[in-house]
Amino acid sequence: MITDKKSPYRLVSDEKLVELRAREDALFLKRTPKAEETFNNAKKMLLNGVPMPWMGDWGTTHPIFVREAVGNRLTDIDGNQYIDFCLGDTGAMFGHSPEAVAEVVSKQVRLGITTMMPTTDALDIGTELGKRFSLPLWQVAMTATEANRYVIRICRTLTGRPKVLSMNESYHGSLDETLPHIGPEGKLELRSEYDMNPAVAKDALSRVVEFNDLEQLERELAHKDCACVLAEPVMTNCGMVLPDPGYHERLRELCTKYGTYLVIDETHTFSNGYGGYTRAYGLKPDFITLGKSIAGGIPVAVYGFTSEIATLINQSFGHQGVSDPMGVGGTLSANAFAIAAMRQTLTTVATEEAFEKMFAGQERLSNGLDDILKKYSIPWSLTRSGARCELQFMPTQPRNGSEAKNHFDWELMYYTHIYLANRGVLITPFHNMMLVPPVATDEDIDCLIQLWHDCLAELVECSEGN
Ligand code: PMP
Repeated sequence: MITDKKSPYRLVSDEKLVELRAREDALFLKRTPKAEETFNNAKKMLLNGVPMPWMGDWGTTHPIFVREAVGNRLTDIDGNQYIDFCLGDTGAMFGHSPEAVAEVVSKQVRLGITTMMPTTDALDIGTELGKRFSLPLWQVAMTATEANRYVIRICRTLTGRPKVLSMNESYHGSLDETLPHIGPEGKLELRSEYDMNPAVAKDALSRVVEFNDLEQLERELAHKDCACVLAEPVMTNCGMVLPDPGYHERLRELCTKYGTYLVIDETHTFSNGYGGYTRAYGLKPDFITLGKSIAGGIPVAVYGFTSEIATLINQSFGHQGVSDPMGVGGTLSANAFAIAAMRQTLTTVATEEAFEKMFAGQERLSNGLDDILKKYSIPWSLTRSGARCELQFMPTQPRNGSEAKNHFDWELMYYTHIYLANRGVLITPFHNMMLVPPVATDEDIDCLIQLWHDCLAELVECSEGN
């Protein structure tokens, strides 16, 4: 957890925030005694009491331990119920355990889980992905991190170039290539939260530019040592950052000009529609990577590419007809269970109608949040994109990762998140992103708006009393 950043638009004094936070921590402890006890036991056998680091990073005194999550409702082991707008940070974007997926996987689990042989469901997912994303050929991995890693490997082999260019403060999984960011003196360094792996030279494998800065992008690509640009079409991991008009067209042109592949990571921006941001805005990437939500939350990811690239892969790797020509592994990848879940999710859950509902929900939520900012003249901004929106502690929308990160305020953010959780609503930890699933009702959305209203009205009242 990082606590040193503080937004100049905090609203309340540090002392007041500490006081409010103490009240919320006490309430959280009162509501979750079983979770506290479980956490204390868990620390004896799990590093920091959790099975993976992010699970301990919600800002609460101890994690919420989940008993059940169905649709957009989550119940913890203390019996508290939550309306969920985090949705496993996108993994459960269409709701937890969609009934249609649950049915198919419970059948498949008795018909073979993993055989290292394809099932015919794989053809359906290939067809479906091709239809949505306009790229004809697809491969399956287990996670989005892995899909990105495999694509980087392919791009390096096809270009003979070592580096990957990513956007400052982006996140594409735990990849050494994309974890560095631009430090205060313009040099690449590791962000404090990823302060591991000092043995890897920060500039050996990476180039990093600010999102929306085309001059900087061209300058870096002109070195002609980047195998690919790996970018989200909208930044979603440092607070949301929208592209300037014309940005993606120029990004495409520059990648072509300098012989660098363009990889669009749709892992989060699949929430922009049936064929992600790529289809909604007519992008023309060489590769697309996508994970998290495409199998209803069951681990699986995909990467797609053009037929020209498919031909080059077979020529360049020189092992046509061999099962592993690219040196990308993953024994469990494309297992029958995950593929069945993905087929069912794509064909019956992630439908055009589902996206329509998600967009309408986002609009309702965003309008409600905008009204609160106006009503109390709060100098924060709201960014909207597809089924997501994000409150940022700055008066204008950020144009790049540095601007977004410079207005982070972990204490304030965690305070608001715990406030919401204590009153039965969860949003994404690490920043103020809210994702609206198709199963959210107007009442669910209004409940979140009302809680933000009460939370912010109190902060404003406290600021006036300062
Ligand atoms: N790409 C993006 C855009 C992401 O946000 C993430 C994770 N937040 C990943 C890739 C990696 O996904 P995973 O951790 O599921 O491998």
